[in-house]
Amino acid sequence: MKKAVFLDRDGVLTQEPPYYAHKVDELEFIPRSPDAIRILNKNNYAVIIVSNQSGIARGYYPEEDTAIFNKAMEKKLAETGSHIDTIYYCPHHPEAKIERYRVNCDCRKPRPGMLKRAEKELNIDLKQSFMVGDRMSDIEAGKRAECKTILVRTGYNSGQSKENEIICDYVANDLYNAVEYILSLP
Ligand SMILES: [Mg+2]
Ligand SMILES: [Zn+2]
Repeated sequence: MKKAVFLDRDGVLTQEPPYYAHKVDELEFIPRSPDAIRILNKNNYAVIIVSNQSGIARGYYPEEDTAIFNKAMEKKLAETGSHIDTIYYCPHHPEAKIERYRVNCDCRKPRPGMLKRAEKELNIDLKQSFMVGDRMSDIEAGKRAECKTILVRTGYNSGQSKENEIICDYVANDLYNAVEYILSLP
């Protein structure tokens, strides 16, 4: 079984705002996040993105745009010598404007469906793995999957109050700092 670091995408790896980023020209990495990924790659962690993309369900952009955005992101990461092992995203929303995405799915965080899927498909040991996110829904999904959880102070959480921070295992300034913490553990 493999250890993984599950990452939320928007606000952890890439800049948010803009909210619902989907155009390639909106793609901008949070400083040092490609370096953080490269360090995880070197230390044999599977790096897996688990991203809610309800903008698809809401009709803000077609699902193909997510694929194009992710491809561009992977290409940019490759230029820095880092890579994502697998990208999962949830295109659903219970009140979706577009009917085929209108489901009460088990993959939309805070539900742990995408992490459970990785456990099965990629043979991930969830108890030895981490979930890094900028929203409490990320932390909750990680907890429900029995991963260790790290909240970052970037993206959505950059200006938040600190009262939610007690329920996660660690609070990091950014993804790079989260990776420093992960590698410092025995
Ligand atoms: Mg986020
Ligand atoms: Zn879903």
